[in-house]
Amino acid sequence: MNPPVDNRASRPLRLVVLVKQVPDTANVTGEAMKEDGTINRAALPTVFNPEDLNALEEALKLKDRHGGRVTVITMGPPAAVGVLRESLFRGADEVILLTDKAFAGADTLATSYALAQAVKKAGAFDLVLCGRQAIDGDTAQVGPQTAEKLGVPQITCVSRVDEVTETRVVATRSVEGGFETLESALPALLTITSEANEPRPPSVKLAMVYKDIAAEALPGYDDTYLDPEADEAQVCMLDRGGRPVCRAKVVQWDHAAIDAERDLVGLRGSPTRVKEIESVVLAQSEARMVEATEDGIAGLVHELIEEHILG
Ligand SMILES: Cc1cc2nc3c(=O)[nH]c(=O)nc-3n(C[C@H](O)[C@H](O)[C@H](O)COP(=O)(O)OP(=O)(O)OC[C@H]3O[C@@H](n4cnc5c(N)ncnc54)[C@H](O)[C@@H]3O)c2cc1C
Repeated sequence: MNPPVDNRASRPLRLVVLVKQVPDTANVTGEAMKEDGTINRAALPTVFNPEDLNALEEALKLKDRHGGRVTVITMGPPAAVGVLRESLFRGADEVILLTDKAFAGADTLATSYALAQAVKKAGAFDLVLCGRQAIDGDTAQVGPQTAEKLGVPQITCVSRVDEVTETRVVATRSVEGGFETLESALPALLTITSEANEPRPPSVKLAMVYKDIAAEALPGYDDTYLDPEADEAQVCMLDRGGRPVCRAKVVQWDHAAIDAERDLVGLRGSPTRVKEIESVVLAQSEARMVEATEDGIAGLVHELIEEHILG
């Protein structure tokens, strides 16, 4: 039976969401791969990694219930600012872009190191929320590795956040053949699945507020803006028409800003190499119809045993 959802107001929560901009794998075209077999990212539209939208929605729901602040962090090229803008349109309070040539070519180890350094730099937190998995790299390693590097407990594959109090979180995770409900002390890291919620659409009102926020990240940042204890966390910037736009700006950090060691980020910090990507196309001749008769099935089973596919 589902445990009751706790609606008691606890103190405002400090929530960090990690989001990734990924190639839209649902719209792969002939130009998606280069001749050398690597991904032609320039030819692919990019999207908000789907389960990161679920992580953001879970954070926004917790903020709606308990109050607090939602900080969204992404590591990527300058164009990744797109997912940060969309996060603002959906209700995030502050957004941070980790961008630096030094971050390029990162595997999961280097990615989680940079993200953990950025989370530490952003200040005290109660929960870090990630998607379970990115649809391009697909490893589902970054959340767990980031928790390790932050030294906090993790609950992965969360399909429901049941309760958050001042000191603990209770969450239900999907496991093969059922569900597990776990409790953890705060601070903690959760990875969220698509079962958790239906992400809210971007708000037209917020899109109007943030519409002129620079597509290019702004240089410099204001530490007080990131102070989670500050009552008044608003900062203002001028839009292109000279009007003040308040509440958020794109904070941009390079590896030095997050005190990351140069040899631990990007390609230099990545022991993994993707040597080759193969496009597997199944030819029709490899498919065979089996008659749904006793003889047909017996023949198939015999063949599978012969091929050592069935033991
Ligand atoms: C085809 C392909 C194969 C790859 N194989 C490997 C491999 O075998 N081993 C390896 O180490 N690397 C591999 N990589 C590189 C890997 O994609 C990158 O390290 C990537 O930055 C993170 O891994 P992921 O995409 O698997 O993320 P996942 O671990 O699947 O992501 C889980 C969650 O972590 C968060 N997250 C992940 N990346 C970011 C980010 N940049 N910014 C903010 N939040 C983020 C998001 O919340 C995301 O939902 C591969 C890349 C490609 C394109």
